[in-house]
Amino acid sequence: MQHSLYLYNTISRKKELFEPLHSPFVGMYVCGPTVYGDAHLGHARPAITFDLLFRYLSHLGYKVRYVRNITDVGHLENDADEGEDKIAKKARLEQLEPMEVVQYYTNRYHEFTEKLNVLPPSIEPHASGHIIEQIQLVEKILESGFAYESNGSVYFDVLKYNEKHPYGKLSGRVLDDLLSTTRDLDGQSEKHNSFDFALWKKAGAEHIMRWPSPWSDGFPGWHLECTAMSTKYLGEVFDIHGGGMDLLFPHHECEIAQSTAAIGKDSVRYWVHNNMITINGQKMGKSLGNFITLEELFTGNHKLLEKSYSPMTIRFFILMAQYRGTLDFSNEALQGAEKAFQRLMSAVQTLEKIKTSDKSTVDVTNLESKCYEAMNDDLNSPMVIANLFDGVRWINSIADGSESISANDLKTLKALYKTFVFDILGLKDESMAGANTELLDGLISMILKERLEAKAKKDFVTSDRIRDELTKLGVTVKDKKDGFDWEIK
Ligand code: ZN
Repeated sequence: MQHSLYLYNTISRKKELFEPLHSPFVGMYVCGPTVYGDAHLGHARPAITFDLLFRYLSHLGYKVRYVRNITDVGHLENDADEGEDKIAKKARLEQLEPMEVVQYYTNRYHEFTEKLNVLPPSIEPHASGHIIEQIQLVEKILESGFAYESNGSVYFDVLKYNEKHPYGKLSGRVLDDLLSTTRDLDGQSEKHNSFDFALWKKAGAEHIMRWPSPWSDGFPGWHLECTAMSTKYLGEVFDIHGGGMDLLFPHHECEIAQSTAAIGKDSVRYWVHNNMITINGQKMGKSLGNFITLEELFTGNHKLLEKSYSPMTIRFFILMAQYRGTLDFSNEALQGAEKAFQRLMSAVQTLEKIKTSDKSTVDVTNLESKCYEAMNDDLNSPMVIANLFDGVRWINSIADGSESISANDLKTLKALYKTFVFDILGLKDESMAGANTELLDGLISMILKERLEAKAKKDFVTSDRIRDELTKLGVTVKDKKDGFDWEIK
């Protein structure tokens, strides 16, 4: 594969040339959502970051197996080893089956990520569907001597592990610091040390999500699912593990410890982490009142929002920052993104109409290589966008006659915009349908009136054919007493 994609590897703390273990195959695992609430702004950034990486690797010709999990068991409140399961709590409060909660929010997550034009992963495994694999992993870690059973629960022995393997190499946290900052155990605890983490938890009488195991009726610890499912689908060692920076510690640190304990090595070649989104300079949090769901963004229904923002405005806004940089959300920034995105889309439309000359005054080949250079530099999407805006100026100048372009260069330029704007950045022109709403309404109504007339004449062959043809185009027709109704899917 001819390319020079450099990715920042969190564990080596430097940009490294991306070389997959089994080219052209690439294994990529990304921590997905815990499905107990609606997808929010915080979900959009990792979804879009790893969609960008997935799209770019595919564009380069790799065959990517992209696994993104659904966490539906074992993630306790405050990311701790105690307290209630997040999904079970929601189920209890709403008097639903836990799997009803899981299905509902998984569907909602899919709906919103689809609106953001995030491609679905190749495999989307659920933690609850991989309890056997998780139990087997606990057995392996127990066999290797890095875990202990205590009162029906099993904990990872961090101190013992640290004697052989450095614990904290991903996050840079040192065990001595952990020792001095973590609270003393009260003597009632089942753990040897407060920083030991659960691999298996014995379920209390009130705990509704539970499975039999050699140790107790219980449930797996949260960190375990990602180690079990990533290695099941991608092999003991695989290329990329991604997630938000908030997962670096303890979640990913614990994953490294688990796989090293079970198979003697870290499973991951490149650790890739996206930075967080802040809102008006503040961390997003339910208690701060600045928690905005994607639905609220798309409808504008939140006290912090001056208006609604379209999915592509959100996507473009996120891509306007490099994924490792901070990104501050504000109405001003979003409206800036909205304007810039519209300018880009209108240039793409102009591109279809411009006339060619004998020679070019613009250097299209150079623009293309600058776009690739930016992507290869750790997915520098803001730099790609800046280059595309250089092209926007050209397009507008060519259209008004102050620059010129040859037929060959125009072909290259069109291909470049298709590749970078739509295939790699994953943007969509939302305005096309919007701008032509009136025309579209008129046309469909006209056709449907023809169909009504055919029906009135009992010409059902024609009326059925019109309905079927429209259905094929994604227009659903609903017959009503006084006429018809239709909608575009
Ligand atoms: Zn995970």
